[in-house]
Amino acid sequence: MRLAGIEIEAISIGGVETCIELPEAKLAFDIGRCPHSAVNRRSVLFTHAHMDHLGGVAYHCATRALRRLPPPRYVVGRENGAALRELFAAWRKLDRSELEHELVEIGPGEEVRLDNGWFARPFRSPHRAPCQGYALWSRRKKLLDEHVGRAPAELARMRAQGVALEREVEQAEFAFTGDTLIEVVENESVVRAARVLVIEVTFVDERVSVDECRSKGHVHLEEVAERAELFQNEALMFTHFSARYRQRDILRALDARLPASLRERVTPLLTGHAP
Ligand SMILES: [Zn+2]
Ligand SMILES: [Zn+2]
Repeated sequence: MRLAGIEIEAISIGGVETCIELPEAKLAFDIGRCPHSAVNRRSVLFTHAHMDHLGGVAYHCATRALRRLPPPRYVVGRENGAALRELFAAWRKLDRSELEHELVEIGPGEEVRLDNGWFARPFRSPHRAPCQGYALWSRRKKLLDEHVGRAPAELARMRAQGVALEREVEQAEFAFTGDTLIEVVENESVVRAARVLVIEVTFVDERVSVDECRSKGHVHLEEVAERAELFQNEALMFTHFSARYRQRDILRALDARLPASLRERVTPLLTGHAP
Protein backbone atom coordinates (compact mmCIF):
# COMPACT_ATOMS: atom_id res chain seq x y z
CA MET A 1 0.00 0.00 0.00
CA ARG A 2 1.03 3.61 -0.49
CA LEU A 3 0.85 6.10 2.41
CA ALA A 4 1.53 9.80 1.76
CA GLY A 5 3.55 8.85 -1.34
CA ILE A 6 5.63 6.10 0.29
CA GLU A 7 5.17 2.47 -0.80
CA ILE A 8 5.01 0.12 2.20
CA GLU A 9 4.81 -3.69 2.24
CA ALA A 10 4.35 -4.98 5.75
CA ILE A 11 3.48 -7.84 8.04
CA SER A 12 3.41 -7.31 11.79
CA ILE A 13 1.64 -9.40 14.41
CA GLY A 14 2.72 -9.02 18.03
CA GLY A 15 4.81 -11.95 19.22
CA VAL A 16 4.65 -13.61 15.79
CA GLU A 17 6.57 -11.59 13.20
CA THR A 18 7.33 -8.08 12.04
CA CYS A 19 8.81 -6.95 8.73
CA ILE A 20 8.16 -3.47 7.32
CA GLU A 21 9.49 -3.02 3.78
CA LEU A 22 10.02 0.24 1.90
CA PRO A 23 10.83 -1.03 -1.62
CA GLU A 24 11.68 2.44 -3.01
CA ALA A 25 14.20 3.03 -0.23
CA LYS A 26 15.54 -0.53 -0.85
CA LEU A 27 15.24 -1.44 2.82
CA ALA A 28 13.25 -3.26 5.45
CA PHE A 29 12.84 -2.86 9.17
CA ASP A 30 13.07 -6.05 11.25
CA ILE A 31 12.77 -9.63 10.01
CA GLY A 32 10.95 -11.91 12.45
CA ARG A 33 10.21 -14.59 9.85
CA CYS A 34 11.59 -13.60 6.49
CA PRO A 35 8.83 -12.85 3.93
CA HIS A 36 9.88 -13.78 0.35
CA SER A 37 9.76 -10.14 -0.77
CA ALA A 38 12.12 -9.07 2.04
CA VAL A 39 14.95 -11.14 0.53
CA ASN A 40 15.15 -8.39 -2.11
CA ARG A 41 15.94 -5.66 0.45
CA ARG A 42 19.68 -5.17 0.79
CA SER A 43 19.51 -3.07 3.95
CA VAL A 44 17.64 -4.19 7.05
CA LEU A 45 17.37 -1.87 10.03
CA PHE A 46 16.70 -3.83 13.22
CA THR A 47 14.89 -2.19 16.13
CA HIS A 48 15.61 -4.84 18.77
CA ALA A 49 16.48 -8.50 19.17
CA HIS A 50 13.18 -10.09 20.23
CA MET A 51 12.59 -13.22 18.13
CA ASP A 52 9.55 -11.79 16.31
CA HIS A 53 11.81 -8.97 15.00
CA LEU A 54 15.19 -10.63 14.40
CA GLY A 55 14.52 -14.38 14.15
CA GLY A 56 14.73 -14.44 10.31
CA VAL A 57 18.05 -12.64 9.88
CA ALA A 58 20.18 -15.71 9.06
CA TYR A 59 17.57 -16.97 6.59
CA HIS A 60 17.56 -13.55 4.89
CA CYS A 61 21.34 -13.59 4.59
CA ALA A 62 21.57 -17.17 3.29
CA THR A 63 18.73 -16.73 0.79
CA ARG A 64 20.31 -13.63 -0.72
CA ALA A 65 23.53 -15.59 -1.25
CA LEU A 66 21.57 -18.46 -2.82
CA ARG A 67 19.98 -16.01 -5.26
CA ARG A 68 23.37 -14.39 -5.96
CA LEU A 69 22.21 -11.01 -4.70
CA PRO A 70 24.80 -8.61 -3.21
CA PRO A 71 25.58 -9.25 0.49
CA PRO A 72 23.07 -7.58 2.80
CA ARG A 73 23.73 -4.76 5.23
CA TYR A 74 22.32 -5.10 8.74
CA VAL A 75 21.93 -1.98 10.87
CA VAL A 76 21.61 -2.76 14.60
CA GLY A 77 21.81 -1.00 17.94
CA ARG A 78 25.28 -0.99 19.47
CA GLU A 79 24.09 -3.15 22.39
CA ASN A 80 23.30 -6.04 20.01
CA GLY A 81 26.35 -6.00 17.71
CA ALA A 82 28.54 -8.48 19.60
CA ALA A 83 25.80 -11.07 20.14
CA LEU A 84 24.74 -10.85 16.49
CA ARG A 85 28.34 -11.52 15.44
CA GLU A 86 28.33 -14.62 17.67
CA LEU A 87 25.01 -15.72 16.18
CA PHE A 88 26.43 -15.52 12.65
CA ALA A 89 29.62 -17.33 13.74
CA ALA A 90 27.46 -20.22 15.00
CA TRP A 91 25.33 -20.24 11.85
CA ARG A 92 28.46 -20.32 9.64
CA LYS A 93 29.56 -23.51 11.40
CA LEU A 94 26.10 -25.06 11.16
CA ASP A 95 25.30 -23.99 7.59
CA ARG A 96 28.87 -24.53 6.27
CA SER A 97 28.59 -21.23 4.38
CA GLU A 98 30.06 -17.73 4.40
CA LEU A 99 26.85 -15.85 5.25
CA GLU A 100 28.60 -12.73 3.99
CA HIS A 101 27.09 -9.44 5.16
CA GLU A 102 27.96 -5.98 6.44
CA LEU A 103 27.13 -5.18 10.06
CA VAL A 104 26.59 -1.52 10.95
CA GLU A 105 26.21 -0.67 14.63
CA ILE A 106 24.68 2.72 15.38
CA GLY A 107 22.77 4.39 18.17
CA PRO A 108 20.87 7.62 18.79
CA GLY A 109 22.88 10.64 17.64
CA GLU A 110 24.40 8.75 14.68
CA GLU A 111 23.17 8.28 11.12
CA VAL A 112 23.60 5.95 8.17
CA ARG A 113 23.14 6.80 4.48
CA LEU A 114 20.55 4.75 2.62
CA ASP A 115 20.59 3.52 -0.99
CA ASN A 116 17.96 6.07 -2.08
CA GLY A 117 19.94 9.03 -0.69
CA TRP A 118 17.94 9.37 2.53
CA PHE A 119 19.52 9.10 5.98
CA ALA A 120 18.40 6.90 8.87
CA ARG A 121 18.78 8.17 12.42
CA PRO A 122 17.90 5.96 15.39
CA PHE A 123 15.95 7.18 18.40
CA ARG A 124 15.34 5.43 21.71
CA SER A 125 12.10 3.43 22.02
CA PRO A 126 11.55 2.33 25.65
CA HIS A 127 10.82 -1.42 25.66
CA ARG A 128 11.62 -4.55 27.73
CA ALA A 129 14.71 -5.17 25.58
CA PRO A 130 16.99 -2.37 24.32
CA CYS A 131 15.15 -0.96 21.30
CA GLN A 132 15.65 1.86 18.83
CA GLY A 133 13.23 3.28 16.30
CA TYR A 134 14.44 4.89 13.09
CA ALA A 135 13.58 8.19 11.41
CA LEU A 136 14.33 8.47 7.69
CA TRP A 137 15.34 11.94 6.53
CA SER A 138 15.60 13.41 3.04
CA ARG A 139 17.92 16.34 2.30
CA ARG A 140 17.63 18.82 -0.53
CA LYS A 141 19.00 22.23 -1.49
CA LYS A 142 16.61 25.18 -1.19
CA LEU A 143 17.12 28.69 -2.61
CA LEU A 144 17.68 31.23 0.18
CA ASP A 145 14.67 33.52 0.67
CA GLU A 146 16.58 36.65 -0.38
CA HIS A 147 17.28 35.12 -3.81
CA VAL A 148 13.78 33.90 -4.61
CA GLY A 149 12.47 35.59 -7.76
CA ARG A 150 15.89 36.36 -9.31
CA ALA A 151 16.36 35.46 -12.98
CA PRO A 152 18.26 32.22 -13.70
CA ALA A 153 21.02 34.18 -15.51
CA GLU A 154 21.53 36.40 -12.47
CA LEU A 155 21.63 33.40 -10.14
CA ALA A 156 24.20 31.74 -12.42
CA ARG A 157 26.36 34.90 -12.34
CA MET A 158 26.14 35.08 -8.53
CA ARG A 159 26.98 31.42 -8.25
CA ALA A 160 30.05 31.99 -10.43
CA GLN A 161 31.08 34.81 -8.06
CA GLY A 162 30.90 32.40 -5.17
CA VAL A 163 27.75 33.82 -3.54
CA ALA A 164 25.93 31.31 -1.32
CA LEU A 165 22.52 30.83 -2.90
CA GLU A 166 21.13 27.79 -1.19
CA ARG A 167 20.77 26.11 2.14
CA GLU A 168 20.18 22.46 2.89
CA VAL A 169 16.75 21.53 4.25
CA GLU A 170 15.89 18.25 5.91
CA GLN A 171 12.52 16.56 5.97
CA ALA A 172 11.56 13.64 8.19
CA GLU A 173 9.84 11.43 5.63
CA PHE A 174 9.19 8.35 7.72
CA ALA A 175 9.50 7.01 11.27
CA PHE A 176 9.15 3.50 12.64
CA THR A 177 9.10 3.02 16.41
CA GLY A 178 9.62 -0.73 16.73
CA ASP A 179 8.25 -2.10 20.01
CA THR A 180 7.81 0.67 22.52
CA LEU A 181 6.00 2.32 25.39
CA ILE A 182 3.82 5.30 24.46
CA GLU A 183 6.43 7.67 25.97
CA VAL A 184 8.29 7.61 22.64
CA VAL A 185 5.60 9.99 21.33
CA GLU A 186 6.39 12.61 23.99
CA ASN A 187 10.15 11.98 24.01
CA GLU A 188 10.88 12.10 20.27
CA SER A 189 9.58 15.05 18.24
CA VAL A 190 10.35 13.22 15.00
CA VAL A 191 7.75 10.57 15.91
CA ARG A 192 5.09 13.29 16.01
CA ALA A 193 6.33 15.15 12.94
CA ALA A 194 7.49 12.56 10.38
CA ARG A 195 5.30 12.63 7.26
CA VAL A 196 4.53 8.92 7.71
CA LEU A 197 4.59 7.23 11.12
CA VAL A 198 4.49 3.48 11.63
CA ILE A 199 3.87 2.79 15.30
CA GLU A 200 3.06 -0.37 17.24
CA VAL A 201 -0.34 -0.52 18.96
CA THR A 202 -0.30 -4.04 20.37
CA PHE A 203 -3.50 -3.90 22.43
CA VAL A 204 -6.74 -2.18 21.48
CA ASP A 205 -9.45 -3.00 24.02
CA GLU A 206 -10.19 -3.89 27.64
CA ARG A 207 -9.26 -7.57 27.23
CA VAL A 208 -5.75 -6.35 28.06
CA SER A 209 -5.61 -3.35 30.41
CA VAL A 210 -3.33 -0.37 29.91
CA ASP A 211 -1.33 -1.46 33.00
CA GLU A 212 -0.80 -4.99 31.71
CA CYS A 213 0.10 -3.61 28.27
CA ARG A 214 2.70 -1.30 29.82
CA SER A 215 4.20 -4.15 31.86
CA LYS A 216 4.85 -5.94 28.55
CA GLY A 217 6.49 -2.81 27.11
CA HIS A 218 3.83 -2.03 24.50
CA VAL A 219 1.37 0.67 23.40
CA HIS A 220 -2.38 0.47 24.12
CA LEU A 221 -4.88 2.19 21.82
CA GLU A 222 -6.28 4.00 24.88
CA GLU A 223 -2.89 5.72 25.34
CA VAL A 224 -2.83 6.77 21.68
CA ALA A 225 -6.37 8.19 21.92
CA GLU A 226 -5.37 10.29 24.98
CA ARG A 227 -2.58 11.86 22.90
CA ALA A 228 -4.48 12.21 19.62
CA GLU A 229 -3.73 15.91 19.26
CA LEU A 230 0.05 15.32 19.38
CA PHE A 231 0.25 13.50 16.04
CA GLN A 232 1.07 15.90 13.18
CA ASN A 233 1.82 13.10 10.69
CA GLU A 234 0.21 13.08 7.25
CA ALA A 235 -0.43 9.36 7.55
CA LEU A 236 -0.04 6.76 10.30
CA MET A 237 0.09 2.99 10.18
CA PHE A 238 -0.76 1.04 13.35
CA THR A 239 1.00 -2.33 13.53
CA HIS A 240 1.94 -5.24 15.80
CA PHE A 241 -1.65 -5.95 16.96
CA SER A 242 -1.89 -8.95 19.26
CA ALA A 243 -2.73 -12.22 17.48
CA ARG A 244 -5.85 -12.49 19.69
CA TYR A 245 -7.65 -9.77 17.72
CA ARG A 246 -9.75 -10.27 14.62
CA GLN A 247 -9.73 -7.58 11.94
CA ARG A 248 -13.21 -6.47 12.91
CA ASP A 249 -12.18 -6.09 16.60
CA ILE A 250 -9.37 -3.78 15.56
CA LEU A 251 -11.50 -1.68 13.19
CA ARG A 252 -14.30 -1.39 15.75
CA ALA A 253 -11.86 -0.27 18.46
CA LEU A 254 -10.22 2.33 16.20
CA ASP A 255 -13.60 3.74 15.17
CA ALA A 256 -14.83 3.84 18.77
CA ARG A 257 -11.78 5.30 20.48
CA LEU A 258 -10.03 7.67 18.07
CA PRO A 259 -11.28 11.18 17.27
CA ALA A 260 -12.12 11.61 13.56
CA SER A 261 -9.20 14.02 13.07
CA LEU A 262 -6.78 11.17 13.85
CA ARG A 263 -8.85 8.18 12.69
CA GLU A 264 -9.01 9.47 9.12
CA ARG A 265 -5.18 9.41 8.89
CA VAL A 266 -4.73 5.93 10.40
CA THR A 267 -4.34 2.71 8.40
CA PRO A 268 -4.32 -0.42 10.58
CA LEU A 269 -2.09 -3.25 9.34
CA LEU A 270 -4.60 -6.13 9.36
CA THR A 271 -2.64 -8.67 7.30
CA GLY A 272 -2.54 -12.08 8.99
CA HIS A 273 -5.48 -11.42 11.33
CA ALA A 274 -8.72 -13.39 10.87
CA PRO A 275 -11.55 -11.30 9.37
ZN1 LIG B 1 7.35 -7.49 18.86
ZN1 LIG C 1 9.73 -6.70 21.50
